[in-house]
Amino acid sequence: MRTIALLGATGSIGRQALELIGAHPELELVAAASGSQPIDGLAPLTQVGGDLTELLDRAEPDVVLNAVVGFAGLPATLWALERGVTLALANKESLVAAGELALAAQRRGGGLLLPVDSEHSAAFQCLEGRSPEHVDSLVLTGSGGPFRGRSRDELEDVAPEEALAHPTWSMGPKITVDSATLANKGLEVIEAHFLFGLPYERIEVVLQPTSVVHALVRFRDGASLAHLGYPDMRVPIAFALTYPERAATPVPALDFSQGLVLEFEPPDLDTFPLLALARRAGERGGTYPCAFNAANEVAVAAFLEGRLPFLGIASTVEETLAEVDGAAARDLHELVEADREARRLAERASVA
Ligand code: NAD
Ligand code: MG
Repeated sequence: MRTIALLGATGSIGRQALELIGAHPELELVAAASGSQPIDGLAPLTQVGGDLTELLDRAEPDVVLNAVVGFAGLPATLWALERGVTLALANKESLVAAGELALAAQRRGGGLLLPVDSEHSAAFQCLEGRSPEHVDSLVLTGSGGPFRGRSRDELEDVAPEEALAHPTWSMGPKITVDSATLANKGLEVIEAHFLFGLPYERIEVVLQPTSVVHALVRFRDGASLAHLGYPDMRVPIAFALTYPERAATPVPALDFSQGLVLEFEPPDLDTFPLLALARRAGERGGTYPCAFNAANEVAVAAFLEGRLPFLGIASTVEETLAEVDGAAARDLHELVEADREARRLAERASVA
């Protein structure tokens, strides 16, 4: 029996996790939280909004599935890492923003950090715990989102509804917009750097429009291992919740009876500048990744509310990164300050 606290239970990841937990008697939901919608009765302990660590203190779960969206997921990530409680992490924003602080908490806690993000779950499986010196490079794949192949001119007037129409994945609104700008792939490069201890120059991004190849690892002996499957988040969620059991899911295995063609292409870094901006923020280190994430959250919210054009998301993030000091945070208090300052600058940039 494994007890689970599910944070973000009403979201896209949260609902798929509920389905999987319901289908696996060895998984027991002991606590559930959401940001706004009521979730009474979903689990013995529930909470809407507020400090999620209070819920975790009461629930004492074996596994925390953090499927909150955005920086709001940070306290729960640190709570689990600090205590050595297994963390199934969908909330990539917390690892991107807190980077070194999160890894230091994990070293103290000594628990498992299992990525739920599909590319990182795939890479985790290809790596099998091997250390960075065995690895030549990691390749994260992306679909390219709904605007792959378009020019900058063709992106000037795109509406939120168009950005929300993802070709291969059905996800919450924030990550869907991030997929359209390629900010999501940028966050994932930083996420991979912290998860796998690889320098940025050994983390590559390639587009694979049908999202069948989730990641590849090139090893130093010339072999590359890839992880393939239909795009369905129930696979990486189940992998993290039942690790190392690889419990069954309703997702079918790959079928070759109709043939299968896989095409790869490089991302267009000029049309989608957020990918390179994220990489640069990661390389600069300190609180630059935190500022990248904060500014992006502000800009995506403004875009979804119709206050900012699509191309304004990247320019808001770029202006914010040019203004922040980026000094490393020594503790959570300083990190929260860096996040707040970046949000303030981004709000200003997004109305300019
Ligand atoms: P979503 O918007 O569908 O759901 C977000 C959930 O978080 C909701 O339950 C919401 O109520 C809750 N929430 C928001 N703010 C909160 C707060 N302050 N306190 C408590 N709960 C709060 O988002 P999603 O698509 O499920 O994504 C969740 C996370 O998983 C994101 O970090 C995203 O990047 C990551 N992720 C999602 C997918 C996917 O397929 N949806 C894939 C990879 C990674
Ligand atoms: Mg992903």
